[in-house]
Amino acid sequence: MGYNAAPLERLVEQFSKFPGIGRKGATRMAYQVLSMDPKEAAELASAIQDAHTKLHRCRICQDYTEQEVCRICSSPKRDPSVICVVESPRDVTAFERTREYNGLYHVLHGLISPMDGIGAEQLCVKELLARLQDGTVKEVIMATNPTVEGEATALYLAKLIKPLGIRTTRLAYGLPVGSSLEYADETTLYRALSGRGDL
Ligand SMILES: [Zn+2]
Repeated sequence: MGYNAAPLERLVEQFSKFPGIGRKGATRMAYQVLSMDPKEAAELASAIQDAHTKLHRCRICQDYTEQEVCRICSSPKRDPSVICVVESPRDVTAFERTREYNGLYHVLHGLISPMDGIGAEQLCVKELLARLQDGTVKEVIMATNPTVEGEATALYLAKLIKPLGIRTTRLAYGLPVGSSLEYADETTLYRALSGRGDL
C-alpha cells in the first residue's frame, strides 16, 4: 500500500470491497478503468450511479425494482398463495430461470449469522411476517442455501410462521449422484436423512 498515486489507490480500495475480489484483482480492475477512454469511464460511472438512484427495494418482496412494486408482485399470473423465501435477489433470478415456479418471492437480504453478528432484525423478516397476516398465503417455501446459516434461518422462520397456521416447506437437497456418504458435509447429510422418502 502507499505505492500508488492517490486516485489509483482510491479506486483499488473501492474495488477491494467487492465480494471475492482481493487487492490483486482490485488493482487489475483499477488499471483496466485507467486504460478506458474517457467516454467509457464516464459510462461506467454513470451506470453505477444510475442503478443506485433508479433501483430500490420492492415494497412487498424487497427485491430490486424501478417501480414501487416489482413486476412479479404485480403480475396477475402469479400465485399469491405461495411465497418462496430467499437470501438474495440473485436467488430470485435463479428460480425465475427454471420457469417452474409460479408463486411470489421474499428476499431476506442476508441470513442469520451469529458469528458475523447478523440477527433476524437486520434481515427483512418483519416485512415477511406482515405479508402473512391477511390469510392469502398458504405456503412458505424456505429456499435458503443448505449451509449452516441457511438452515438456521429456515428453522428460525419456520418457528415464527407455523403458529400462523401456514404450511412451511424446505427445498429437498439430495446427495450428489455418485458421491460417497463419508465425504458429504453434515448439513447435506442431515438434510438427505430428514428429507428421506419411502421406497
Ligand atoms: Zn416484489
